[in-house]
Amino acid sequence: MTLAAYAVTTASSRGRRFAESPPTWRDEFQRDRDRVIHSSAFRRLEYKTQVFVNHEGDMFRTRLTHSLEVTQIARTVARALGVNEDLTEAITLAHDLGHTPFGHAGQAALNDAMRPFGGFEHNLHSLRVVDQLEARYAAFDGLNLMFETREGILKHCRPDKARELGAVAERFLSGQQATVEAQIANVADEIAYNHHDIDDGLRSGILSFDAIAGHPVFGQALADCRAVTPNLTGKRLIYTAIRSMLGLFANDLIAASRARLATAGCASTADVRALPHAVVALSPDVQEHHLSLKRLLHRELYSDPRVREFTNAGARTVDDLFARYTEEPGLLPPERRPPPGADEAARARAVADYIAGMTDRFAIAEHRRLVGHDYWPDGRAAH
Ligand code: MG
Repeated sequence: MTLAAYAVTTASSRGRRFAESPPTWRDEFQRDRDRVIHSSAFRRLEYKTQVFVNHEGDMFRTRLTHSLEVTQIARTVARALGVNEDLTEAITLAHDLGHTPFGHAGQAALNDAMRPFGGFEHNLHSLRVVDQLEARYAAFDGLNLMFETREGILKHCRPDKARELGAVAERFLSGQQATVEAQIANVADEIAYNHHDIDDGLRSGILSFDAIAGHPVFGQALADCRAVTPNLTGKRLIYTAIRSMLGLFANDLIAASRARLATAGCASTADVRALPHAVVALSPDVQEHHLSLKRLLHRELYSDPRVREFTNAGARTVDDLFARYTEEPGLLPPERRPPPGADEAARARAVADYIAGMTDRFAIAEHRRLVGHDYWPDGRAAH
C-alpha cells in the first residue's frame, strides 16, 4: 500500500538510539510492534485494572484488552488516512505499559508518594519502560524502539520533564504537533474507553441502562437498532448499539481528519508537525458528544461509591507498599534495589518503578506478605 506523503516511514525516521542491523523480513516499525508484544510489561497488562479491579470478574476489560481494542480502532483509522499502520500499532500497544496496578487510583497514590521526587505519571512511565526498564537485550537497556514510536508513546509532558528527556520530548517545548500516527493513537484511546466502559459499566450493574439510554447519541443508536430489529433486547441490543455508535465515531474521525489534512495541504510529516493544531480529531459536533459521554461516565460510573470502594483499596495498597519498601529497600528483589549510595530520590524512584510494574494480584499478595492483611472486603481478593 502506498502511504500518504505525511506518513512516517523507515526512510524518513530518526531511527534508533543504538544502531542495529535492519530486519530481514519486517519493516523497522513492525519490529517495534513485535518488541512491545514480547515485553514483560505487555504481558503484565493482562492482570492490571482498567476501571474494574482485575479480580471483580473475568468479563471486564483489563489494560491488555483495552490496549488491543485501542489498537484495532487506531489501525482502521491509520489505514484509512494512508499513514504508517505498524507505527500506529506499536504506539497503541505500548501506550499503557507504564500503568500502575489498580488503574487511576493506583497512579494517583504513586504520584502522591513520589511528589517530593518529581511525581509519577503513567504516560511518562510508559516511555521509561520501553527506554530503560525492560531488560532483555545484551547491548542496551530497554527495547531500543524507533524515535517516532517513543515520541508517540509520550502523549503529554511537563516542560521540566521535557527538558530532561531531550529530543523525544522536544515538541512539548517547541509547540509542534505529534505525527499523524501518534495523534490517531491518542484519539483512538479515548474513543475505545468511552465505548468499552459503557459495556463494562452496564455489565457491572453500576451504570444504569436508563442513564446511558438518555445520552442523545446512544439513545439514537438504540432507536436505530430497534427500527431495524424491533424485537432486539438485552445484551444483543446493547452490543448492537455500542457497535453502531463506535462506527459513527470512527467514521467521523476519519472523515473529519481527512478534511483537515486536505485543507492544511500537508505534504510531509514536517508539515503536520508545524501546524498550529492537531489534524486527527472528531468533527466539532461529534467531539461535543464524545465529551458529554465522558462526563456521563464520570458521573454515573467512575465516581460511583462501589467503584471507588475498590479503587480506594488499591490506592491504600500502593501507599503501604511504597512506605514499606522505602523504609526497607532490602525487601526489593536484588536486581531492583537502588545502587549503594543512591540518594533519597533515586531510592524512591526504584521503589516506584517496582510498584508500577506490579499486577493487581501481585501487589495484593505483596501487601499481605509485608503488611499482613489486605483491604478487600468479603475475600474478593482471594486469587
Ligand atoms: Mg489507554
